[in-house]
Amino acid sequence: MSGWRQAVVASVTCETANARTLQIEVPGWEGHAAGQHVDVRVRAEDGYTASRSYSIASSASSTSLSVTVDRLDDGEVSPYLVDVIAPGDHLEIRGPTGGWFVWRPNAEQRPVQLIGGGSGVVPLMSMIRSHGDLADTTPFRLLYAVRSPGLAIFRQELLRRAADPDLAVDWAFSRETPEGWGAPPSRLDLAAVRSAVFPADSGALAYVCGATPFVEAAANWLLDLGYPPTDIRTERYGG
Ligand SMILES: Cc1cc2nc3c(=O)[nH]c(=O)nc-3n(C[C@H](O)[C@H](O)[C@H](O)COP(=O)(O)OP(=O)(O)OC[C@H]3O[C@@H](n4cnc5c(N)ncnc54)[C@H](O)[C@@H]3O)c2cc1C
Repeated sequence: MSGWRQAVVASVTCETANARTLQIEVPGWEGHAAGQHVDVRVRAEDGYTASRSYSIASSASSTSLSVTVDRLDDGEVSPYLVDVIAPGDHLEIRGPTGGWFVWRPNAEQRPVQLIGGGSGVVPLMSMIRSHGDLADTTPFRLLYAVRSPGLAIFRQELLRRAADPDLAVDWAFSRETPEGWGAPPSRLDLAAVRSAVFPADSGALAYVCGATPFVEAAANWLLDLGYPPTDIRTERYGG
């Protein structure tokens, strides 16, 4: 992997009140695998730099690079990327990085169970977009845990893509549910996960991503449900 490369923000798209997608132009960008991330470095006028990792949101079939950043109010870099940066601004990019938390189409067509918490949906969305773009028939299922419908990144696109017979999307809302949801908000637990994931005997490969406590809890529920540890791939965002 080479070092830092100069890049330019091509466009900024609002996803929720807290999250923006940045489409980034990197000269000579060679593409990526679904699930990989890049390091993004920003530079202040006085030369101070800070870098953070961001999962790639775009499909592996596309030649463009996009990342989706959720603002942490007390954070150093994410408020800048969400509230300040604008088309035409410069960034530095390193990567793509990651060879384990990736989905590549394969002949076995093992079912794929995705579990995301908050912005942890981003690399899972890259997998879903790649699966859709290839018209791959591997059974995919996403369990997306989020506080409220308004904070659900990619909600409209996920609702639309869930019409694909090879993709099921299950939602878990912890603070506020959509109108007419028919159940109160609740935190995920083992019973809820059991009803929203492929059973262990399906041979599914699981990808779990989000803040560290969420990932640890979700991976433990999958173990309780009988998933072999080697079939659970995790990406921890910190926190
Ligand atoms: C491989 C990888 C991929 C990532 N992909 C994404 C992505 O696609 N979208 C995205 O929004 N973020 C992603 N992150 C998280 C991102 O790298 C930053 O950690 C995040 O944007 C916060 O940076 P900050 O500078 O604003 O906060 P900081 O100044 O670094 O931290 C501020 C405070 O928030 C806490 N904190 C840091 N990260 C988290 C977190 N994720 N959840 C809760 N608390 C946290 C810190 O402990 C600290 O107290 C990814 C992280 C990794 C390791």
